[in-house]
Amino acid sequence: MKARLNLQEYANGIAKGDRVVLAKAITLVESTLPVDRALADQLIEKILPRTGNSIRIGITGVPGVGKSTFIEAFGKHIIETHKKKLAILTVDPSSPLTKGSILGDKTRMEELSRNMMAFVRPSSSGEAVGGITHRTREAIHLCEAAGFEIIIVETVGVGQSEVAVKKSVDFFLLLMLAGAGDELQGIKKGIMEMADVVAITKADGENKNKANEARSEYQHALHLFRPDVSGWSPKVLTCSALLQEGMDAIWNTIVELQQLLQNQGLLEYRRNQQQVEWMHECFDQLLKQQFEQSASLQKKNKHLENEVLNRRTTPQQAAQSMLSDFIELLRTTKS
Ligand code: GDP
Repeated sequence: MKARLNLQEYANGIAKGDRVVLAKAITLVESTLPVDRALADQLIEKILPRTGNSIRIGITGVPGVGKSTFIEAFGKHIIETHKKKLAILTVDPSSPLTKGSILGDKTRMEELSRNMMAFVRPSSSGEAVGGITHRTREAIHLCEAAGFEIIIVETVGVGQSEVAVKKSVDFFLLLMLAGAGDELQGIKKGIMEMADVVAITKADGENKNKANEARSEYQHALHLFRPDVSGWSPKVLTCSALLQEGMDAIWNTIVELQQLLQNQGLLEYRRNQQQVEWMHECFDQLLKQQFEQSASLQKKNKHLENEVLNRRTTPQQAAQSMLSDFIELLRTTKS
């Protein structure tokens, strides 16, 4: 198959659930080339009526907590017991300094990768946090249009990428280790607060008791957070991916929360809010792009930065001046 398809070829392939075309379409939306971007925009618009019919689950946890092993076990459970088609997107922002991937280059989720009911898509390398939300949302939409009913978005549990993912999913599952010393294991309080469900991993063998103790501790700690508008306060469970235990309880908890939100109209509300927020983010991005494309504005920008640094003007005044120049530029290019 050729590397690039046309709009109709992408749309048809996706409608048929063709995984090769789906993978190509995700590559297209990840591309930063203007020609690809234009086609990606058209494609997302075209598939829009086929989107929205999935449960979108974000999963996070520090490296080593057992994310990929868990997703293999949980994914198998979803496919075998609930007969659902499952897509897994991983989001792994690399540090611009190291370009290193935290999730690692090893083949992850090997079994699921071979399963015809699953689609596993690792993140593109060198991804900056800024573009994650946009690309993740588009990839979710593409997977939905291709008929995937459960979408898991996996992220690394170290900060900003969780915020980006939270804006794109319905539920957030946080994986934690028992007795790993540091109470929150480098998981920031903000991430704990985002979690709808917390699962203590590796609850097997000698670790089982510790996992149960950790479960009560975390359950207690999470009770101190205010329940969200739906009245849900996060549930803490234990699981062992190795023994394939606890998967049903986690699945049932997610379904329970889904029903609770649906009954109150909150699921739709949450998604609508996300769509509108997405629109505003796109607008901000477009404005920024327009601004950055103008050589004269960039020159002026540099000059104003110097003025601010030398205390000749205030940041507020400099920003105002940039805005005026921008408006002027738009006016002159229009006429
Ligand atoms: P990730 O970095 O969060 O994706 O973690 P991995 O899934 O790669 O798991 C890290 C290590 O924990 C591996 O050596 C796994 O074999 C081990 N592990 C994962 N899940 C379990 C489990 O349920 N029980 C036990 N005992 N070990 C596990």
